[in-house]
Amino acid sequence: MEPESSTEATDVRIAIIGAGFGGLGMAIRCKQEGIDDFVVLERGEDLGGTWRDNCYPGCACDVPSHLYSFSFALNPNWSHIFARRQEIWEYLRDCSERFGIAPHIRYHHEVQAADWIDAADHWRLQTSSGPLTARVMIAAGGPLSQPSVPTLPGLERFAGESFHSAQWNHDYDLRGKRVAVIGTGASAIQFVPRIQPKVAKLHLFQRTAPWVLNRPEHRITSVEKLLLRNIPGLQRAIRHGIYWGGESAIFGLVHDQRLLKPVESLALRHLRNQVTDPELQRRLTPNFRLGCKRVLGSSDYYPALTQPNAEVVTDPITRVRRQAIVTEDGVVRDVDAIIFGTGFHVTDNPMMQMVRGREGKSLAEVWQGSPQAYLGMTVPGFPNGFLLVGPNTGLGNNSIVFMIEAQVRYVIGALKAMERHGLSSLEVRPEANAAFQQEVQARMPGSVWTDGGCSSWYLDANGRNSTLWPDFTWRYALRTRRFDLNHYRARLDLSTRTPSEALALALA
Ligand code: NAP
Repeated sequence: MEPESSTEATDVRIAIIGAGFGGLGMAIRCKQEGIDDFVVLERGEDLGGTWRDNCYPGCACDVPSHLYSFSFALNPNWSHIFARRQEIWEYLRDCSERFGIAPHIRYHHEVQAADWIDAADHWRLQTSSGPLTARVMIAAGGPLSQPSVPTLPGLERFAGESFHSAQWNHDYDLRGKRVAVIGTGASAIQFVPRIQPKVAKLHLFQRTAPWVLNRPEHRITSVEKLLLRNIPGLQRAIRHGIYWGGESAIFGLVHDQRLLKPVESLALRHLRNQVTDPELQRRLTPNFRLGCKRVLGSSDYYPALTQPNAEVVTDPITRVRRQAIVTEDGVVRDVDAIIFGTGFHVTDNPMMQMVRGREGKSLAEVWQGSPQAYLGMTVPGFPNGFLLVGPNTGLGNNSIVFMIEAQVRYVIGALKAMERHGLSSLEVRPEANAAFQQEVQARMPGSVWTDGGCSSWYLDANGRNSTLWPDFTWRYALRTRRFDLNHYRARLDLSTRTPSEALALALA
């Protein structure tokens, strides 16, 4: 796709940043509500967000697709229970076309700076394709959008090929190569079984053994699709079933960790069934409570690690040489390529540096390592700014699309309130935010994320869980169902009103 022409409006009402699940969901619901004056600023040359970027072999969603999809765009044609990345990407493109979003998207518009200009009640955005002002900014860049590569000593001198799982180099032929994979998270366990049969040697550098449950693949048959298409309510019923299954995990994750033990037993049995070598079993046995990190599902991860060309390395990496990786025990492993399955900058996402609020401070400066936002969406000092999948609204046990839809509903409520009352700006009250933070953090002690014996990207630099929603998601949906103006400081838009109109609006 070509960069947009310079004739585009540079002053818009709403700028949505990112054309992934969040940004598209927001755009579609705006459109459905008759709000048409918005743009979607997308840094790439196509939409899809994480499902565009992550194209590593085996990439699929580990949440069943009948739930991991918009409630207003159910898809009876998913080919698998856990759809592959390509199919999810196509689903998003289809949604964009179907709901008329395509003309609103401006590709090659990476937002590089966003400053709130108080005197003008708008955001001034600097993008890679030029400046823009917007009355409202909705940041939907996603928390898993900035790959994180560890700073290993000597890495800069490595002469082989190296890339991150979210920036897969498909031009590099892995066949017959000696490959190091660093990381054993949700991404690695999907691509490791795909690359292991191709490579000469696979060294999997594991820092922490993850919990892995058996997850057999199920291809949805044409008869099943026929039933899904033709039996009224069947798709919704399945969706509900999956949703409530995910919700039930909260009892163990937040309330009583003993409830997680039967699931741990299942995972350990899965390990024993697939790995018979006691030493390998020991290495692959997690040493923390299930759920403290994302619980993974795979039926082919362990078998790949039992193959003669695979090795699980648990000694920490001390340095990288031109063609080798050295571990603490002094062993030198010659490698042709390093693949980083090392996750993303979540609580230190660069977006936090570039968004500056009323007092000229960036989100990073205000947050000091611990992101926080009222309902995970609005931040005192950052008027007319909304975050989708912001602080404490991530999930480990259910579909993030559910949270996105709840947030989109809330933001639509805010946009309508602005319209209805003739407001030029809305800013969440610090006391509303403080009370919310207290409430959320009060739920953390005793939860598996803070007391489960692991360190994970759910915890920020200050050791605070600022990523996950620590409760049932239906409670979040109820909580955000209505936009409550009482929690906000509002400024009237006097520029378009006569004094008597302004008075009437103020009293409304
Ligand atoms: P991740 O879960 O953050 O895993 C990163 C892995 O890299 C961990 O095993 C971590 O070890 C390891 N690591 C990080 N820095 C390291 C270092 N300096 N030295 C050695 N090892 C290091 O990343 P991810 O697998 O890309 O997944 C990120 C998130 O994306 C997931 O949690 C999930 O939310 C999402 N995701 C979803 C799907 C899906 O199907 N829906 C698929 C993929 C990813 P430690 O465990 O010791 O920190």
